[in-house]
Amino acid sequence: MTALNLSRLITAAADTIAAHAEELTALDQAIGDGDHGLNMKRGFEALRSEADAFAGKPLPEALKAIGTKLVMTVGGASGPLFGTLFMALGKDISAAPDRVDLTAAFGKAIEAVAARGKSQIGQKTMLDVLQPVHEALAVGRTPAEIADIADLAAEATVPMKALRGRASFLGERSIGHMDAGARSTALLVRIVAQTIGEDA
Ligand code: ADP
Ligand code: MG
Repeated sequence: MTALNLSRLITAAADTIAAHAEELTALDQAIGDGDHGLNMKRGFEALRSEADAFAGKPLPEALKAIGTKLVMTVGGASGPLFGTLFMALGKDISAAPDRVDLTAAFGKAIEAVAARGKSQIGQKTMLDVLQPVHEALAVGRTPAEIADIADLAAEATVPMKALRGRASFLGERSIGHMDAGARSTALLVRIVAQTIGEDA
């Protein structure tokens, strides 16, 4: 990815998070504490304000810096988890990754998130989107297909019972609502897929 595109990607991600902040808040209000929209917006506006600085770094360093910034600014449970995702991605990725490199690094990054959250797939969290996206990447799905898979995976959290995060305090009552972090993850996956798709 070129510096220009990383800067454009950060701006586009901040735009999509801002445009969906109320939706994310409403999702988190239903089965959490209603701060996810604001948390994500704060984090991505912080990224936006330094987009060119991130884009000026080699990709591994840029991703690590993005992860660190997200930990510092998003807050809640999701801040350290999204932060871990990007920091771990930066640790394992090469400066100019192909799909195979990206798949391997993304797999390790997901493992880092799962370790940090003591969570696994099926517990109604962001992992329920990250994991299917990783599988889709591994089998060579197109960016457009991957974006759709992410949306379907977020939808698939609706009937799940939450076993991690605040929503788990509700037990059975968490059933019937989409997980907010799964939704924000799907929004980010679509923006990344679109930007990489344009690049390809
Ligand atoms: P908080 O729960 O502290 O209010 P947010 O509302 O910003 O933080 O984020 C909640 C989201 O974080 C959830 O919707 C879920 O996707 C994700 N999450 C919470 N705990 C975990 C965990 N242990 N493992 C993976 N994801 C988690
Ligand atoms: Mg919350």
